[in-house]
Amino acid sequence: MPPHVLIFPLSMQGPVNCMLKLAELLCLSGISVTVLNTDHIQRSLIRHTDVLSRFSCYHNFRFETISDGLPDDHPRSSELFLEILEGFRTVTEPVFREMMVSGCFSSKSAFPVTVIIPDGSFSFALDVAEEIEIPLIYFETVSPCALWTYLCLPNLIKAGEVPFNSNDLDVPIQSVPGTETFLRRRDLPSFYRCDDLANPAMHILMNQARHVPRAHGLIINTFETLDASILVHMRNLCPNIYSIGPLHTLLKSRLTIAPQSSVSNSLLEENRTCLTWLDTQLEKSVVYVSIGSMATMTVDQFFEIWHGLVNSGQPFLWVKRPGSIVGEYDDDEVSKHLMYETKERGFMAEWVPQEEVLAHSAIGVFLTHSGWNSTMESIVEGVPMICWPHNVDQQVNSRFVSEVWKIGIDIKDTCDRFIIEKAVKDVIHLRKNELIQSVKMLGEYGALSVAEGGSSYMNLNKLVEDIKSMGIKAS
Ligand code: UDP
Repeated sequence: MPPHVLIFPLSMQGPVNCMLKLAELLCLSGISVTVLNTDHIQRSLIRHTDVLSRFSCYHNFRFETISDGLPDDHPRSSELFLEILEGFRTVTEPVFREMMVSGCFSSKSAFPVTVIIPDGSFSFALDVAEEIEIPLIYFETVSPCALWTYLCLPNLIKAGEVPFNSNDLDVPIQSVPGTETFLRRRDLPSFYRCDDLANPAMHILMNQARHVPRAHGLIINTFETLDASILVHMRNLCPNIYSIGPLHTLLKSRLTIAPQSSVSNSLLEENRTCLTWLDTQLEKSVVYVSIGSMATMTVDQFFEIWHGLVNSGQPFLWVKRPGSIVGEYDDDEVSKHLMYETKERGFMAEWVPQEEVLAHSAIGVFLTHSGWNSTMESIVEGVPMICWPHNVDQQVNSRFVSEVWKIGIDIKDTCDRFIIEKAVKDVIHLRKNELIQSVKMLGEYGALSVAEGGSSYMNLNKLVEDIKSMGIKAS
């Protein structure tokens, strides 16, 4: 059977972005690909990007859609995570199973799927794959360091280290091999800060810990040099790991057409005028602020960060995503309040072309929520970080940024204008050389890994070969 991969991303910006990049890489390698997006994601992609025309040049590519079980006007924000999960559980999972067993993708169809590549959190997909005997390779779009803490969850529970409530967050953690000298309770994924194990997020992570090692393989967006200390342990559980990051750099290196500055998989409209504003700023002077596509803050936190930035004296570019400020507040008042100082030395946007922003020479530091894609993009461009993690894998990532890679400052669990002002001044002035040197070195290792003969380059080739041979076995 000709190889045909079904890619099924989690319906969020970060995973969709990564999975579309993987889809393009596989198409370029001669593999047929179908991307299964939720209707809601597909509508946003089509509205804000050129994905349809971009992918139309691949005769071996197509999109399919599936319901996420939520009404069209549902906000799908991180606060409503449980509703999102419920929609998936009750609607998407059974429809997916039906599609695979009897529908357009089964061996009975003209164009059968030979390999499934779903998001690492889709445990149900492995059950379906086993039922219909199609190989499955997970793509884990969270960071390897956080995934490792998920895979260690059974041991953490057995050792009584998880769950813990929000007390004594500085207690060291001992049951995540390779991290014993620096990981504390507060650096574990946010879901672990709970009183008992009977919450839906824990349930998903436990399933993930059980299912991921059973798959044919695991794709991750990192490169060997960056995560060597974790991968060595992770391979004991999951021997077949394809580390193919930095994925966006790998894709750029394989596209033969002109520099891909404008490849976008954004679910929101990008404001590109910020790039012109950046052109007017001094080199390495601007603080770029973004908390990604899902994280939120209160209006008090917003103003605390804003005061910290203004007091630091540095110019800033701030992504104030619609819906990112939660709670009671008057948006017009906020805008009026911000007007004066922001006009003086700040630029506010609702969404920006982040890869291009980070590549701009005016950017001096990234104040980030430590999402994994943002972290990788910052490393690639040699931009040090101030980490203000919100949830999921971000607490782990920020610890690795500050303590393992030493390319930034972790201010988790605080939101204080003085701390922010000091962190900005430290990165831009006091610790500038040390931090830039470390992050640039990592960025260079990342570039080497995607160049011909590099580890990510070779791992992608191996993935392609393995997918092709899985197709042959299925025929
Ligand atoms: N992003 C973007 N424009 C913005 C903010 C973010 O294009 O204004 C992109 C960013 O480049 C990254 C993704 O959105 O690829 C965010 O993914 P990440 O894993 O960092 O965080 P998440 O949104 O999943 O929490």
